[in-house]
Amino acid sequence: MAKIGGYAGKILYVDLTRKTSATEPLSKEVMSNFIGGPGINSRLAYDIIKPKTEFSSPENAILINVPPLVGTFAPGAGRVSFMSISPQTGSLAYSGTGGLYNLKFAGYDELVITGKADRPVYLKVLDDEVEILDASDLWGKDAMETTDILWSKYGDEWNVACIGPAGENLVRYASINSNKFSLFAREGFGAVMGSKNLKAIVARGTKDIEIADRSAFRELCSTAQKDIMGERYFPAWRALGSLIGLGHFERSGLFPVKNQQEGCFEGVHDNFFRNTEFIGRLKNGDVSCMACPVGCKHAIKVKGGKYDGKVASLSCILSTIQTFGVTYTIKNYEETIMCADLCDRYGMDYFSIVNTVSYATELYDRGIITQKDTDGMVLEWGSADLMHELIPKIALRQGFGNLLAEGCHRMGQRIGGDAPKYAVHVKGVDTIYDPRTTIFSPEMFSLFTNTKGAYPTLQTFSLGTVMSPETLKPLMKMIGVPEDRQDVILNTPTGGNEGGYNVPRLAKYYDEFYSLLDSTGICARSIYNVFGVDRIARIYSALTGIEKDAAAILRDMERRWNVEKAFKVRDGLGKKEQDMGPERWMTETVSWKGKEFGPISRERLAALLSEYYDERGWNPDSGWPTKRKLEQLELGDIAKDLQNSLGE
Ligand code: SF4
Repeated sequence: MAKIGGYAGKILYVDLTRKTSATEPLSKEVMSNFIGGPGINSRLAYDIIKPKTEFSSPENAILINVPPLVGTFAPGAGRVSFMSISPQTGSLAYSGTGGLYNLKFAGYDELVITGKADRPVYLKVLDDEVEILDASDLWGKDAMETTDILWSKYGDEWNVACIGPAGENLVRYASINSNKFSLFAREGFGAVMGSKNLKAIVARGTKDIEIADRSAFRELCSTAQKDIMGERYFPAWRALGSLIGLGHFERSGLFPVKNQQEGCFEGVHDNFFRNTEFIGRLKNGDVSCMACPVGCKHAIKVKGGKYDGKVASLSCILSTIQTFGVTYTIKNYEETIMCADLCDRYGMDYFSIVNTVSYATELYDRGIITQKDTDGMVLEWGSADLMHELIPKIALRQGFGNLLAEGCHRMGQRIGGDAPKYAVHVKGVDTIYDPRTTIFSPEMFSLFTNTKGAYPTLQTFSLGTVMSPETLKPLMKMIGVPEDRQDVILNTPTGGNEGGYNVPRLAKYYDEFYSLLDSTGICARSIYNVFGVDRIARIYSALTGIEKDAAAILRDMERRWNVEKAFKVRDGLGKKEQDMGPERWMTETVSWKGKEFGPISRERLAALLSEYYDERGWNPDSGWPTKRKLEQLELGDIAKDLQNSLGE
C-alpha cells in the first residue's frame, strides 16, 4: 500500500510476557474512519481488550497513538494519546499530552503493549530496532532522575515517558511523565505501566513523514501559525502560560475549596498568586511541545526565600495553583510549586492527590477518621509540610498512604458509614470543578457525561462564561454544528444558570470538536481556538490526501464517541445512573461570596441527560447507543456484538 501522508502506516505490538514485538499495517479504513489519537485507539481497544479486563491484568493493553498531524510543522500539533483500562474508572479511558512523537519518526502510528514483564524493564524503540531492556537500576527512582539517566545514556533528542515510584506501587492516580514537562496525568495510567513492570518507554526515529500536497499543507500551516501569533492574547500566553486564566477562574466560580465545601476565597490572583511574583521570582524559562509557538510550560528556579535556587519543571501552572494552592489552600506560590514538583517526581496526578487529601481532611474534621487512622498525623488545611510528608507515603503506599493511594471514591467505600457521601467523583474520578458555583456550560455538563469521569471534554469557549446568541452563533459554525441543529440549540434553551441555549445538545458537538483536536494532535488550549473544523479538515486533507470536509471529519469523531460508549456497554457500564453526579452536588448547597449555590436537582439533571442522549441518537432513558445509531456510523460489527444489550 502506498503511504498515506501524515501516517507511518504501521502498528507496533509489544508483548512484555513473551518479550516479543511485531508490526502490522494500520489499515486505510481505520485511519480514514477514526483519524488518530483517541479515535484510532478506541477502535483498536475495542478489538484488543476483552470485556471486564482489570487494569492490572497482563491482558490489559496500553495503546499509544501519534496522531497524523504530529511530527509535521502544523502549529500546536504535538499531542499524543494514551488509552487503557483506568484504575479509577475500571473501564476504558484516555489521556493526552506532548511527547513520544519520535514513535512516528521511527515508523509507527500506534504502539500497543500487552503482557507483563517478569522483572522491571523499559522499552526502547529506535526505528526498526525494538528492545525490551532491564530496568532494575531504574526501579525506585523518581521520574526526573529516570529521565536524566535515560537522556544521559541515549541523548536528550530521545523521547522519554516514564513512571515514578507511585506508578510502580499501583497508586490509582499515578501519572506518566513525558520529557519532564508533560504529563499523562489523569486516569492513573502510571499504575498500568507499573502493573506491567514497565518503567519507561524511550523512542527515537529518523524516518520522514509523507505529505500528500506539500504546497497546500505549507500554505495552510503558515497561515494558521500567523493567525495564532497574531491573536491578541498571544504575548500574554507566551509570558504567563496557563496563568493567563487565573483571574477568570477565580471570578467565575471555577475554584472550589476544601473538597468543595466552600467557594473560592478572596484574593487568589491579587494577593496570593501575582503574575509579577511568578515572572520575577520563579519562572526561569519556557518550554514548548513540538511545533508550538506558545511554550506554555515553565522551567522554574526560585530566587530568594526558603527554596532559593530550587528548580522544577512545570507542565501547567494554573493546575498547580488550582489544586495545591486553592483547593487545599496552601496560598503561597513557592510552597505550592514545591508540592507540585514533589508530586511530579513521585509521579502522581495533582488533581487526584489534592482531592484525595482534601477528602481525608474533611473526614478528619468531621471525626469520621481520627489520628488512629492517620498514623498519628493531624490532618489540617493548607499545610505544605503535611503534603510533603504525605506525598512519599502515598507513592510508597506506606501506612495511611496506602488508603489515600486508592483515591477518594474507593477510600470512602473502604471506610464506610457516612464517608462515601463526601467523596466528590463521577465514575470513580475526582474533579477540580464544582458545577454549582459556575455557569452550567457544556464543559460543566460533560463532567457528568465524559466516559473518562468527572473531567470536562473541552476546557475552552464557555468555561465560566455566559454565552449570548451573538457569541454562540460564530462559535457553533466554527466547531461544525449543523445549521438545523444550531437553530434547535438556540431556540430550545434549557433555562437555569445554563444561559439562553440548549446546553446538553450543544455538549454533543463540543465532545466531537474536542475529539477532533485530540485525534489530529492539536493542542486544546484556548490560544489554539483559531483552528475551526473547516481549517482542520483542509489541513488533514492536504496532509493525507484523504479528502474530508467538516461534516465528514466530525462524523469520524462521532464514531469514536460511540465506540467508547459501546466499550462501556460491553463492560456493563455507561448507563444513565452512572452519569449522575456525586451526592454533594445533588443534595448540598455551597456558599460563595455570601450567596448559596446548588444543589443540582436530580430530576433536572436526568432531563438534561435525556436531551443529550437524544441528540446523540442514543436511548434517552438508558443512555446507551441504539443499534440503529451504530449501524448508521458503519459500526455494524459492534452493533452485532452488543445485540443482546441494545434495543433498536
Ligand atoms: S500551548 Fe502549551 S500545552 Fe499546548 S502545545 Fe503549546 S506548549 Fe504544549
